Amino acid sequence: MKSFDLIVIGSGSGLEISSLAATRGLSVAVVERGAFGGTCLNRGCIPSKMLIHSADVMETIRRAGRFGIRAEVSAVDWQFIVNRVVSSIDSDAREIEDGNRDNPKITVFKDRARFVGRKVLEVGDQQITAETIVIAAGTRPAVPKIDGLADVPFITSDEALRLPEQPRRLIVVGGGYIAAELAHFFGALGTEVTIVEIAPRMLLQEDDDVGARFTEIYRQRFSLLLNTVVKRARRKGDEIVLDVDSEGTRRTLVGDALLIAVGRVPNTDLLEVAETGVAVNERGFVKVDEHLETEVPGIWALGDIVGRYQLKHSANLEAVYVAHNIFDPKHKIAVDYHAMPHAVFASPQVAGVGMTEREAKERDLPYAVGAYEYSDTAYGSSIEDEDGFVKVLANRQTKEILGCHIMGTEASILIQEVANAMRLRLKTDAITRPIYVHPALPEVVQRAFWSLGV
Ligand SMILES: Cc1cc2nc3c(=O)[nH]c(=O)nc-3n(C[C@H](O)[C@H](O)[C@H](O)COP(=O)(O)OP(=O)(O)OC[C@H]3O[C@@H](n4cnc5c(N)ncnc54)[C@H](O)[C@@H]3O)c2cc1C
Repeated sequence: MKSFDLIVIGSGSGLEISSLAATRGLSVAVVERGAFGGTCLNRGCIPSKMLIHSADVMETIRRAGRFGIRAEVSAVDWQFIVNRVVSSIDSDAREIEDGNRDNPKITVFKDRARFVGRKVLEVGDQQITAETIVIAAGTRPAVPKIDGLADVPFITSDEALRLPEQPRRLIVVGGGYIAAELAHFFGALGTEVTIVEIAPRMLLQEDDDVGARFTEIYRQRFSLLLNTVVKRARRKGDEIVLDVDSEGTRRTLVGDALLIAVGRVPNTDLLEVAETGVAVNERGFVKVDEHLETEVPGIWALGDIVGRYQLKHSANLEAVYVAHNIFDPKHKIAVDYHAMPHAVFASPQVAGVGMTEREAKERDLPYAVGAYEYSDTAYGSSIEDEDGFVKVLANRQTKEILGCHIMGTEASILIQEVANAMRLRLKTDAITRPIYVHPALPEVVQRAFWSLGV
């Protein structure tokens, strides 16, 4: 059995730690069963945002007439759109793998790892061990139990980002951020999209006001079935047919492709973590303490497989803490997750940080709410963003910023200043008092804060 100082399982955010350990002269094993770079590079953030940019360009052209520009789209070159993305990410993945293979301190194992004993992993036909192990093996798309689903050629986000042909009609099951983003991508480029969601609205994690407005816009844009349960999936020639129960009525939906986007499950089962004594929670995510150490001393976990926030910047943050706690064990630091922002790159964009109003209410906090419409600002009205708005929550006694929720143009950028202020534990003054460029879009954030009245 080969022994290393450190084993990292998963080549996404885990690579932060393996490369640091190699720099310090430790012998390191990196185990990866798929492409290097993990979900974000190969099947997540990067390909989805690259594809969505094509959709955004299409929307801009469609809206051009409003601004006096007569433009027409003569064709959508699907192969070009997908190849632009695939060739870029595949070459990045190869580069990352080569970089690891070229490092004399790192041994790459390109296979599935599974624990077969305490701190012992089986990788292909070899066994490896290390006193320090980092589990960064991520998640995979969840597949719900639906009658007949196994017999239809459904796709998940893994395949949706690399489809060789554009589907004419796409049924999306799910109403979370991945469903919202991919519906925008396919829909803007001309696919007829039907969204089936079991809940009464889309984007359930968002503040109620954002979720409700976003749902209304998607209802106008797509065929959106809420409170709808998929009963059965079947094939009819080249078509996929879904029998659904929609608000008490039986309906039949027909599509050329079916995208299942109902969340993600941790890869702890494939990794057989129980064999090394690592405990998981009721949803299968690795149980860790505040330092990200598992119940087995010397085995750490980070990123999606821990399940705290399934976001790349959260996994990156955790990697920094794990690295510190491994290399400076006498001064371990608990992870500070305060002010973790997120964004949904749909159309409209959505972004948020901190508490929703519902959470503030549940905690019985003395909060004030402020809100401002994009269209009531100079820039918002010049770009004719009629739906966009900013909502903020602050503690009316302490002026602590509790949360901010944005829907509209560049929401993913606008949220950052609020996330920064919150992260530094600044009060509402951090936004209300600075001088903002007129008539730039951030004025809408400042005015939402002004309207708090605290
Ligand atoms: C469609 C989509 C869009 C997304 N968009 C965004 C976004 O815009 N912004 C954002 O912040 N986040 C986004 N995410 C989430 C983001 O991709 C993840 O939070 C992030 O990649 C998690 O990193 P990780 O290192 O924890 O795991 P991963 O990057 O998933 O890495 C885990 C690695 O472990 C490997 N592995 C698993 N099991 C084994 C095993 N048994 N043996 C060997 N190797 C194994 C896997 O092959 C994988 O490469 C998106 C995700 C998806 C699916």
